[in-house]
Amino acid sequence: MDGSISVQGLVKTYKGDVKAVQGVSFEVAEGEFFAFLGPNGAGKSTTVQILTTLVKPTTGSIRIGGVDVGEEPERVRWNIGVALQETGIDPVLTGRELIEMQARLFGFTKKEAKIRAVELLALVDLNDAADRPCGKYSGGMRRRLDLALTLVHKPKILFLDEPTTGLDPSNRKAIWKEIKRLNKEEGTTIFLTTQYLEEADQLADRISIINQGKIVASGSAEELKRTLGFDAIQLLFELDEEAERAGQILVDLGENIERSKNEVTLYTENGTKLLSDLVRKLDEHNLSPKTLNVKPPSLDDVFINVTNEQKERA
Ligand code: ADP
Ligand code: MG
Repeated sequence: MDGSISVQGLVKTYKGDVKAVQGVSFEVAEGEFFAFLGPNGAGKSTTVQILTTLVKPTTGSIRIGGVDVGEEPERVRWNIGVALQETGIDPVLTGRELIEMQARLFGFTKKEAKIRAVELLALVDLNDAADRPCGKYSGGMRRRLDLALTLVHKPKILFLDEPTTGLDPSNRKAIWKEIKRLNKEEGTTIFLTTQYLEEADQLADRISIINQGKIVASGSAEELKRTLGFDAIQLLFELDEEAERAGQILVDLGENIERSKNEVTLYTENGTKLLSDLVRKLDEHNLSPKTLNVKPPSLDDVFINVTNEQKERA
C-alpha cells in the first residue's frame, strides 16, 4: 500500500438534505503535501472523516494507497494517521499514557509502547509535560499531543483537520515545522485542511479551494495566483463614503470589485492597462484616492474571487 489518495465523485448528504459534500474529485500522489482550503462549513471535516473511514459517503469512490476505503477500511486504518478537529481524548490521562495506549491499540508490546512514547514525546517537545493529565495542557500542547498520537504507528499518510486553528503564532510555527519535516524527511503524504490562506501558501505543494461542498479551484499556490490571471488594483480613500461612490462608479471596469470601509479592490485581467480609464473615471466624479496600488493577486484575492463567482452563479 503506497501513500496516494484518489477520490472520485464524492457526495455526502446528511439527514434533512444537508449537502455537505457535492461531487468532489481529486488525486494526491505519494509524498505530496495537499491542502484543502475553505471557510467554515465548506465540507472539509466531512471529507476528512470519509477519507479516514469514520463516516460513510452517500456516493463516490475513495482509494487510499490503491485500497478501496469501503471494501477494506481496516487495512486503510493501519496505514493512515488522523488528527480530527474535535477529539475525544480523556482529560485525566497523561500524554505519556495516551501515547502508550494508542501504541498498544496498534499492536505494540508494553515495552515497545513505552519506547515509542519516549520517542514521540521528545519529537513534539512534550517531555516536561509527559506525566501531567492532558486536561491541563494548553491549546498548543494539546495539538502537539494530537500530532504525536497520529504518528504512533508511522503512518504513510497523515490527515490533519485544521491542526493550527486557535493557536498563537509561535505554536502554529512549531506545528508547521513538524509537519513539514514529516513530509520532507520521512516522505509522509499530508492531507491538511485549513481556513488560513497563509498556511496553505506556506506548506502545500498543491491546494484545492473548497466552498459549499465543491472544489472551486485547484493548483499550486503560484498556479492559483497565475491561472486566474488577475491583478488587484487597490484604492484607499480618505472617507468610507468616497470608497462607496468609487465602488459604484468603477463597477463596470473590473471583473469583480470588493469594498470594505475606505478601501476598494478591483480585480481585473490586466491592471496596468486599465489604470488610465480608471483614473479618468474617478476624475470625472471628483474622486481622488489617497493611495493606489496594482499588485499580482495574493492567495487571499484568489479566494475572494472564486467564492464570489460561486455566489453569483448560485
Ligand atoms: P468544515 O469542516 O469545512 O467547516 P463540515 O464538513 O464540518 O465543514 O460541514 C459541512 C456541512 O455539513 C455544514 O453545513 C455542516 O453543518 C454539515 N454537517 C457536518 N456534519 C454533520 C452531521 N453529522 N449531520 C448533519 N450535518 C452535518
Ligand atoms: Mg471542520
